[in-house]
Amino acid sequence: MRNVIILGSGCAGNTAAIYTARAGLNPLVVIGHEPGGQLSVTTEVENFPGFPKGIQGPDLVENMKLQAERFGADYIHGTVQATELMERPFRINVDGEWHDARAVIIATGASARWLGLPGEQKLIGHGVSSCATCDGAFYKNQLVMVVGGGDSAMEEANFLTRFGRQVTLVHRRDQFRASKIMLDRARANPKVKFLANTVVEEVYDVSKNKVTGARLRNLIENRTWDEAVDGFFLAIGHTPNTKPFVGQIDLDPEGYIVSKGGARTNLTGVFHAGDVQDRTYRQAITAAGAGCMAAIEAERFLEAEGH
Ligand code: NAP
Repeated sequence: MRNVIILGSGCAGNTAAIYTARAGLNPLVVIGHEPGGQLSVTTEVENFPGFPKGIQGPDLVENMKLQAERFGADYIHGTVQATELMERPFRINVDGEWHDARAVIIATGASARWLGLPGEQKLIGHGVSSCATCDGAFYKNQLVMVVGGGDSAMEEANFLTRFGRQVTLVHRRDQFRASKIMLDRARANPKVKFLANTVVEEVYDVSKNKVTGARLRNLIENRTWDEAVDGFFLAIGHTPNTKPFVGQIDLDPEGYIVSKGGARTNLTGVFHAGDVQDRTYRQAITAAGAGCMAAIEAERFLEAEGH
């Protein structure tokens, strides 16, 4: 029987592990299908406080894990296949093996959606990104492309004009999901060029290990062409990793955990941390803060229960 099982090994999960481990709770952390979370697929992180020269995303998250292990956190690799959270002890099935816990912290994150282009995954961190806030500053005076037609795409396109000399916004339809105010703002921005009814067929150039261009297709004219690009940003939404909790944890219509205040879910003793609940900020530092909150709440819960 574990005091705490933490699901997820990104910023939120690792920070929860540091805090619960230092509290002597010997947490078990389940490393899922994206070890280290989204930081592990970024390159340089310049906005995490405490690193004036920046730090590589994978190093930052690995340091967090080492820090948690130093205080007694245990890590296992595996996929959470099922959970039993309606009764205590809570039960977590990792690759067929059940683990029991008095408290659970869900930090399974939200996975950015990708287009599935042949070169896309290989160029993540080398020009392909799903986070303008994280990576926009690398494209000063360069050519940037944003894919998507929602609020994120508009927000990212506007934000990226602070750096790029031109931002091309590519959307597969001519109707936009984005709110009018966000769409109008992007349309009014002289540095944003709109390409509607257009899809991306490929992002180049894996052989150079950096983004140099994209092949586009206009769906109305069925015309294909190449555009030079330095930074290629996906803003086609995120999918929260909450499948194993459906029917137990209150989720909103898109699958994000509904917070009951602080780090609390609808189930006493089960807490949330990071992007699995946060659809707004999605930053390493906010996820870390949320992991700290969840750990403190779990600690207080266990103390109140006499453990
Ligand atoms: P979203 O609203 O779900 O929009 C995703 C966009 O990506 C849609 O335009 C969609 O096209 C496109 N898309 C999805 N899959 C695609 C694919 N395979 N190929 C090409 N395009 C694809 O996601 P979001 O923009 O991230 O916003 C998520 C939520 O956060 C929304 O509720 C939004 O209002 C909110 N948000 C608010 C703010 C703000 O108010 N400041 C900022 C960001 C986000 P289709 O339209 O054709 O489906």
